[in-house]
Amino acid sequence: MDRPETILVVAAHPDDEVLGCGGVIARHRQAGQLVRVAFLAEGVTARFALHELHLESVKALSAHRNRNALRALAVLGVPADQVFLSERPCCRLDGVAQIDLVKDVERHIRDIRPRRIYTHAAHDTNVDHRLAQQVVLAAARPIWPFRIDLLAFEVLSSTEWNATAPFAPTMFADINATLDKKVEALKCYEDELREAPHPRSIEALRALATFRGAQAGLRHAEAFQVLRAVEE
Ligand SMILES: [Zn+2]
Repeated sequence: MDRPETILVVAAHPDDEVLGCGGVIARHRQAGQLVRVAFLAEGVTARFALHELHLESVKALSAHRNRNALRALAVLGVPADQVFLSERPCCRLDGVAQIDLVKDVERHIRDIRPRRIYTHAAHDTNVDHRLAQQVVLAAARPIWPFRIDLLAFEVLSSTEWNATAPFAPTMFADINATLDKKVEALKCYEDELREAPHPRSIEALRALATFRGAQAGLRHAEAFQVLRAVEE
Protein backbone atom coordinates (compact mmCIF):
# COMPACT_ATOMS: atom_id res chain seq x y z
CA MET A 1 0.00 0.00 0.00
CA ASP A 2 1.15 3.50 -0.78
CA ARG A 3 2.25 5.44 2.29
CA PRO A 4 0.83 8.92 2.03
CA GLU A 5 1.87 11.36 4.70
CA THR A 6 -1.44 12.71 5.85
CA ILE A 7 -4.91 11.25 5.67
CA LEU A 8 -8.33 12.83 5.87
CA VAL A 9 -11.42 10.75 6.50
CA VAL A 10 -14.72 12.48 5.74
CA ALA A 11 -17.52 10.44 7.25
CA ALA A 12 -21.18 11.30 7.55
CA HIS A 13 -21.76 9.86 11.04
CA PRO A 14 -19.79 8.44 13.95
CA ASP A 15 -19.34 4.72 13.25
CA ASP A 16 -19.08 5.12 9.44
CA GLU A 17 -15.35 5.76 9.78
CA VAL A 18 -14.84 2.44 11.62
CA LEU A 19 -17.12 0.41 9.36
CA GLY A 20 -15.69 1.95 6.21
CA CYS A 21 -11.98 2.18 6.89
CA GLY A 22 -11.24 1.43 10.54
CA GLY A 23 -8.61 -1.16 9.70
CA VAL A 24 -6.85 1.22 7.35
CA ILE A 25 -7.00 4.08 9.84
CA ALA A 26 -5.18 1.86 12.34
CA ARG A 27 -2.61 0.97 9.67
CA HIS A 28 -1.94 4.59 8.81
CA ARG A 29 -1.53 5.45 12.47
CA GLN A 30 0.81 2.53 13.08
CA ALA A 31 2.90 3.84 10.19
CA GLY A 32 3.11 7.18 12.01
CA GLN A 33 0.90 9.09 9.61
CA LEU A 34 -1.39 11.85 10.67
CA VAL A 35 -5.05 10.87 10.35
CA ARG A 36 -7.82 13.41 10.76
CA VAL A 37 -11.45 12.36 10.89
CA ALA A 38 -14.15 14.91 10.08
CA PHE A 39 -17.81 14.09 10.57
CA LEU A 40 -20.50 15.94 8.65
CA ALA A 41 -23.35 15.16 11.05
CA GLU A 42 -24.14 13.49 14.33
CA GLY A 43 -25.52 9.98 14.21
CA VAL A 44 -28.60 9.68 16.37
CA THR A 45 -31.40 12.07 15.58
CA ALA A 46 -32.65 10.30 12.45
CA ARG A 47 -34.64 8.22 14.92
CA PHE A 48 -36.58 11.27 16.08
CA ALA A 49 -39.03 13.71 14.56
CA LEU A 50 -37.93 17.23 13.76
CA HIS A 51 -39.92 18.65 16.68
CA GLU A 52 -38.07 16.35 19.11
CA LEU A 53 -34.55 17.43 18.19
CA HIS A 54 -34.41 20.18 20.82
CA LEU A 55 -35.22 17.75 23.68
CA GLU A 56 -32.46 17.38 26.24
CA SER A 57 -32.82 13.59 26.16
CA VAL A 58 -32.21 13.56 22.40
CA LYS A 59 -29.26 15.93 22.68
CA ALA A 60 -27.80 13.68 25.37
CA LEU A 61 -28.00 10.66 23.09
CA SER A 62 -26.26 12.56 20.33
CA ALA A 63 -23.51 13.73 22.69
CA HIS A 64 -23.07 10.16 23.90
CA ARG A 65 -22.59 8.93 20.33
CA ASN A 66 -20.01 11.66 19.73
CA ARG A 67 -18.14 10.64 22.89
CA ASN A 68 -18.15 7.08 21.62
CA ALA A 69 -16.49 8.34 18.45
CA LEU A 70 -13.59 9.70 20.49
CA ARG A 71 -13.25 6.34 22.26
CA ALA A 72 -13.44 4.35 19.03
CA LEU A 73 -10.90 6.52 17.28
CA ALA A 74 -8.56 6.36 20.27
CA VAL A 75 -8.60 2.58 19.84
CA LEU A 76 -7.47 3.11 16.25
CA GLY A 77 -4.77 5.53 17.38
CA VAL A 78 -6.37 8.82 16.37
CA PRO A 79 -6.02 11.51 19.05
CA ALA A 80 -9.03 13.60 20.04
CA ASP A 81 -7.53 16.76 18.57
CA GLN A 82 -7.79 15.18 15.11
CA VAL A 83 -11.44 14.25 15.50
CA PHE A 84 -13.92 16.86 14.31
CA LEU A 85 -17.43 16.10 15.48
CA SER A 86 -20.58 17.71 14.14
CA GLU A 87 -23.92 18.60 15.66
CA ARG A 88 -25.72 18.75 12.34
CA PRO A 89 -28.77 16.45 12.51
CA CYS A 90 -28.26 12.98 11.09
CA CYS A 91 -29.94 12.12 7.76
CA ARG A 92 -30.98 15.72 7.19
CA LEU A 93 -27.89 16.98 5.37
CA ASP A 94 -30.08 17.41 2.29
CA GLY A 95 -31.51 20.40 4.16
CA VAL A 96 -28.08 22.01 4.58
CA ALA A 97 -26.55 24.25 1.94
CA GLN A 98 -23.96 22.02 0.28
CA ILE A 99 -21.54 24.90 -0.07
CA ASP A 100 -21.25 25.10 3.73
CA LEU A 101 -20.29 21.43 3.90
CA VAL A 102 -17.78 21.91 1.09
CA LYS A 103 -16.20 24.84 2.91
CA ASP A 104 -15.87 22.71 6.04
CA VAL A 105 -13.98 20.03 4.14
CA GLU A 106 -11.87 22.65 2.34
CA ARG A 107 -10.79 23.95 5.74
CA HIS A 108 -9.50 20.49 6.67
CA ILE A 109 -7.73 20.17 3.33
CA ARG A 110 -6.06 23.54 3.86
CA ASP A 111 -5.06 22.56 7.41
CA ILE A 112 -3.45 19.19 6.82
CA ARG A 113 -2.87 19.00 3.04
CA PRO A 114 -4.06 15.38 2.87
CA ARG A 115 -2.33 13.10 0.42
CA ARG A 116 -5.41 10.91 0.49
CA ILE A 117 -9.08 11.34 1.42
CA TYR A 118 -11.39 8.49 2.30
CA THR A 119 -15.13 9.05 2.07
CA HIS A 120 -18.43 7.35 1.26
CA ALA A 121 -19.56 5.40 -1.77
CA ALA A 122 -21.84 7.16 -4.24
CA HIS A 123 -24.95 5.00 -4.10
CA ASP A 124 -25.56 4.32 -0.42
CA THR A 125 -29.15 4.25 0.76
CA ASN A 126 -28.29 6.88 3.36
CA VAL A 127 -28.70 10.40 2.01
CA ASP A 128 -25.89 11.84 4.14
CA HIS A 129 -23.49 9.22 2.79
CA ARG A 130 -24.31 10.09 -0.80
CA LEU A 131 -23.89 13.79 -0.09
CA ALA A 132 -20.55 13.17 1.62
CA GLN A 133 -19.05 11.96 -1.62
CA GLN A 134 -20.45 14.93 -3.54
CA VAL A 135 -19.04 17.30 -0.95
CA VAL A 136 -15.60 15.68 -1.04
CA LEU A 137 -15.49 15.69 -4.85
CA ALA A 138 -16.25 19.41 -4.78
CA ALA A 139 -13.86 20.28 -1.95
CA ALA A 140 -10.98 18.23 -3.35
CA ARG A 141 -11.41 19.42 -6.95
CA PRO A 142 -7.99 19.72 -8.56
CA ILE A 143 -7.27 23.31 -7.62
CA TRP A 144 -4.93 22.55 -4.76
CA PRO A 145 -1.15 22.92 -5.10
CA PHE A 146 -0.67 19.34 -3.94
CA ARG A 147 -2.11 16.07 -5.13
CA ILE A 148 -4.99 14.38 -3.35
CA ASP A 149 -6.11 10.84 -4.04
CA LEU A 150 -9.76 10.05 -3.36
CA LEU A 151 -11.06 6.70 -2.20
CA ALA A 152 -14.62 5.60 -1.44
CA PHE A 153 -15.40 3.05 1.26
CA GLU A 154 -18.41 0.83 1.86
CA VAL A 155 -20.50 0.97 5.02
CA LEU A 156 -22.42 -2.11 6.06
CA SER A 157 -26.14 -1.40 6.57
CA SER A 158 -26.15 1.26 3.88
CA THR A 159 -23.96 0.52 0.87
CA GLU A 160 -25.13 -3.06 0.38
CA TRP A 161 -28.78 -2.15 0.94
CA ASN A 162 -28.79 -0.64 -2.54
CA ALA A 163 -28.77 -4.10 -4.07
CA THR A 164 -29.11 -3.02 -7.69
CA ALA A 165 -26.13 -0.66 -7.49
CA PRO A 166 -23.52 -2.92 -5.90
CA PHE A 167 -20.26 -1.52 -4.59
CA ALA A 168 -17.52 -2.47 -7.05
CA PRO A 169 -14.17 -2.05 -5.33
CA THR A 170 -10.94 -1.50 -7.22
CA MET A 171 -8.47 -1.28 -4.36
CA PHE A 172 -7.95 -3.66 -1.45
CA ALA A 173 -6.05 -2.89 1.71
CA ASP A 174 -4.65 -5.66 3.89
CA ILE A 175 -6.17 -5.28 7.36
CA ASN A 176 -5.27 -8.70 8.70
CA ALA A 177 -3.12 -7.12 11.40
CA THR A 178 -5.68 -4.45 12.35
CA LEU A 179 -9.03 -6.24 12.01
CA ASP A 180 -9.19 -6.93 15.75
CA LYS A 181 -8.68 -3.23 16.43
CA LYS A 182 -11.47 -2.42 14.00
CA VAL A 183 -13.77 -4.79 15.89
CA GLU A 184 -12.70 -3.31 19.22
CA ALA A 185 -13.37 0.20 17.89
CA LEU A 186 -16.81 -0.76 16.62
CA LYS A 187 -17.67 -2.13 20.03
CA CYS A 188 -17.25 1.41 21.40
CA TYR A 189 -20.45 2.19 19.49
CA GLU A 190 -22.37 -0.28 21.61
CA ASP A 191 -25.76 1.24 20.71
CA GLU A 192 -25.14 0.74 16.99
CA LEU A 193 -24.16 -2.91 17.13
CA ARG A 194 -26.77 -5.56 16.34
CA GLU A 195 -26.92 -9.30 16.46
CA ALA A 196 -26.25 -11.30 13.30
CA PRO A 197 -27.60 -11.52 10.67
CA HIS A 198 -27.88 -7.74 10.89
CA PRO A 199 -25.14 -6.27 8.70
CA ARG A 200 -23.95 -4.06 11.57
CA SER A 201 -22.90 -7.10 13.60
CA ILE A 202 -19.40 -8.23 14.41
CA GLU A 203 -20.08 -11.42 12.48
CA ALA A 204 -21.01 -9.53 9.31
CA LEU A 205 -18.09 -7.16 9.70
CA ARG A 206 -15.64 -10.06 9.91
CA ALA A 207 -17.38 -11.84 7.03
CA LEU A 208 -17.05 -8.79 4.79
CA ALA A 209 -13.36 -8.45 5.68
CA THR A 210 -12.88 -12.11 4.80
CA PHE A 211 -14.74 -11.78 1.50
CA ARG A 212 -12.93 -8.59 0.46
CA GLY A 213 -9.68 -10.29 1.37
CA ALA A 214 -10.57 -13.28 -0.76
CA GLN A 215 -11.12 -10.99 -3.73
CA ALA A 216 -7.52 -9.88 -3.53
CA GLY A 217 -5.56 -12.83 -2.19
CA LEU A 218 -5.51 -11.45 1.34
CA ARG A 219 -6.68 -12.94 4.59
CA HIS A 220 -8.72 -9.86 5.52
CA ALA A 221 -9.17 -6.63 3.63
CA GLU A 222 -11.04 -3.40 3.38
CA ALA A 223 -12.15 -2.53 -0.11
CA PHE A 224 -12.28 0.85 -1.81
CA GLN A 225 -13.29 2.44 -5.06
CA VAL A 226 -10.63 4.69 -6.45
CA LEU A 227 -12.37 7.95 -7.27
CA ARG A 228 -9.12 9.62 -8.27
CA ALA A 229 -5.51 8.57 -8.12
CA VAL A 230 -2.74 10.85 -9.32
CA GLU A 231 0.82 9.79 -9.86
CA GLU A 232 3.43 12.49 -10.30
ZN1 LIG B 1 -23.75 6.80 8.41
